[in-house]
Amino acid sequence: MSTQFYCLKNMPIVRIALDVPLPTLFDYTVAEGIAVAVGQRVLVPFGRKQMMGVMMECAVETELAAERIKPVLHVLDDVPPLSEELLKLLRFCSDYYHHPLGATVLSALPARLRSSQPVAVKEALLYALSSSGRALDMSLVPRRKVVQHLILAALQQGSLNNAQLRALSPSAPTALKALLQAGWVESMAHTRSPLLNPLPRAGEDANAKSHIFNGAHTLTAEQQQAVDAVTQTNGYGCFLLHGITGSGKTEIYVHLMHEVLRRGGQILLLVPEINLTPQLENYFRSRFPEADLVSLHSGLNDGARAQNWLRAQSGQARIVLGTRLAVFTPLPQLALIIVDEEHDASFKQQDGLRYSARDVAIFRANQRKVAIVLGSATPSLESYYNAQSGRYRLLKLTQRAAALAQLPTVRCINTENAVLYHGISEQLLAALEQRLSSGEQSLVFINRRGYAPVLMCTACGWLSGCSNCAGKLVLHLKDRRLRCHHCGHQERVPHACPSCGNADLQPVGIGTQRVESALQERFPQARILRVDRDSTRNKGAWQAMRQQIHDDEVDILVGTQMLAKGHDFPNLTLVGVLNPDGALYSSDFRASEKLFAQMAQVAGRAGRAGKPGEVLIQTAFPDHPLFRALREHDYDAWAKILLAEREAAGFPPFVYQVLLRAEGKQESEVYNFLQRSRKAAVELALPVEIYGVVPAAMPRRANHFLAQLLVQCESRKLLQQFLRVWHPLLDALPAQKLRWSLDIDPLEF
Ligand code: ADP
Ligand code: ZN
Ligand code: ZN
Repeated sequence: MSTQFYCLKNMPIVRIALDVPLPTLFDYTVAEGIAVAVGQRVLVPFGRKQMMGVMMECAVETELAAERIKPVLHVLDDVPPLSEELLKLLRFCSDYYHHPLGATVLSALPARLRSSQPVAVKEALLYALSSSGRALDMSLVPRRKVVQHLILAALQQGSLNNAQLRALSPSAPTALKALLQAGWVESMAHTRSPLLNPLPRAGEDANAKSHIFNGAHTLTAEQQQAVDAVTQTNGYGCFLLHGITGSGKTEIYVHLMHEVLRRGGQILLLVPEINLTPQLENYFRSRFPEADLVSLHSGLNDGARAQNWLRAQSGQARIVLGTRLAVFTPLPQLALIIVDEEHDASFKQQDGLRYSARDVAIFRANQRKVAIVLGSATPSLESYYNAQSGRYRLLKLTQRAAALAQLPTVRCINTENAVLYHGISEQLLAALEQRLSSGEQSLVFINRRGYAPVLMCTACGWLSGCSNCAGKLVLHLKDRRLRCHHCGHQERVPHACPSCGNADLQPVGIGTQRVESALQERFPQARILRVDRDSTRNKGAWQAMRQQIHDDEVDILVGTQMLAKGHDFPNLTLVGVLNPDGALYSSDFRASEKLFAQMAQVAGRAGRAGKPGEVLIQTAFPDHPLFRALREHDYDAWAKILLAEREAAGFPPFVYQVLLRAEGKQESEVYNFLQRSRKAAVELALPVEIYGVVPAAMPRRANHFLAQLLVQCESRKLLQQFLRVWHPLLDALPAQKLRWSLDIDPLEF
């Protein structure tokens, strides 16, 4: 390419971000008479295609020859341009995560805005019962109009928007139309919320003062201190809100949000990728019935997502509740960010732009000079360490907020030498029986779906392996299939051993289906519900199950981590945990940190509403410090042990890491590429620690070989400096038949 610069008289040059895997912006000219602003979406010719891009900057000169530079075809002015602030955030992400700027910018836009179809900003409508609807005798609505009944019942609790109605039933739009026609339901424009009343302070009667702020509790002294610390902060401040489950973190969020709404600010509330956003959305909406709240998550259709995004951008939406992707929402009046369950791994995106929404949120708060609150019962070690060292301010809640709520008793059942009934101990069975007779709910937690993790031949020891992966095929007895949970491969359960012909094949280990059928056999009268990815695959299934649990139509729940997070089942008093031991001795150094968080979370499900809860953990290592800390509800003790281990081993949070991953069909090519990458890194002779090339935790997956190379450094800045010179060297290596990627601050190995 020529390095000579051409100046094009009277033809301004603009640099455009395009979603292509190249780390540059692309130069175009703008014809006279056309105005284009930074942040606007534009349509440009690219190769033989046309592409949507975002105008990033103006330039006075270009390296392109005059005859090669092409004009912008069209400037889209259907929506306001992206703000400089948002573009700056995206530039930071592109730079820090070493992902092409164009791909970064475009991936932050809702799909609708990435297409060249103009988007119309719709007026957001809210639906409510009309006066005749409120007076309606429900028997006038035919019983078979189930969805109409559902909608009317929901509207009795408060007004709903389109997305929430659709969450009730896929046929909600039709039913709604009928209800509007009948005059029982009316729609209204969602206008900006009026300024709210001042917050009730500790000791005051909360509900007397505030009509907007439904059901506010008078805060405990600890809660009030936390609220004050955040509201009194001017400018940027990062707070770690560490409080056990039920200690009233959500209540603090609500008070903080109320204060921000009152001052006219917008709030970004990030939550993990959990299937309960409609429930959460309804919760916050019920707390702020007059504030315009939108949600942003992958469960929304493209249209709804674009509309919600636009409402945030226009400043109309005051509260944005979303999963990790919502961290890039334009928020002109952003005044507070909350990251709930900040330790949750789902804040990390595992492909494309591999960002941590929590870390990006912290950068954003700093850029914007506002407060950010990271909430958790079991903070990530990174955040905990930052709170210890004073980079974050620690806010602690040490007690459960509701007077009656006690912490559950946690006990271990030693499974060494124990006789187990399909993996379940006699003690646990006895405890389950007792709950059955007292009419309370139990939860049996096991982090493995299917019937058994593997099928084995009793004669020759053959194991059901996947032909495409290094993993084993999981036995799913319900449909008599063996399934790979890594690549999706499935086959019929063989009648005899494929290796020796022996007909006696035995399931080894336990999964949710096996526990379910064993319990059903043992307690034929019990109503047992299995909740895992298989049983909740159909749309709306999980929602219906949750309702069943709440309506007390279930005695024993058997489930995976889907059940651990954020649900409040008031009648649940017993949690049994099967098989947590694998994580204690895993090669993943974060496995035991995750296990503790998960155990604490499941334990938090027991005994929330005044009934004392009990947690029984089956383990062969009851004296392990992890279980000791769980029994004593002592996160700090556990975190101290982990931090000491990590410091001794030289792992995060004491170092910063980058993982180079490669995969391909040819094993030798994968390893050659990584070895060359390693050599290039070593030759740079920079102060970073370079590990050897090793196979990935799952070394073969879907017929591809996976391997990786870890580089780490005590200084984030030095690691970034290293990456800035190393990355272009990687780009220059031959890698036609491979896929490779850099993962900054990786969580999975
Ligand atoms: P967390 O988010 O920490 O799990 P929540 O905010 O959901 O805790 O509070 C747990 C329970 O305690 C909820 O039922 C909530 O209504 C109640 N609660 C919270 N704060 C108070 C308070 N100050 N006084 C009485 N009850 C409270
Ligand atoms: Zn065999
Ligand atoms: Zn497989």
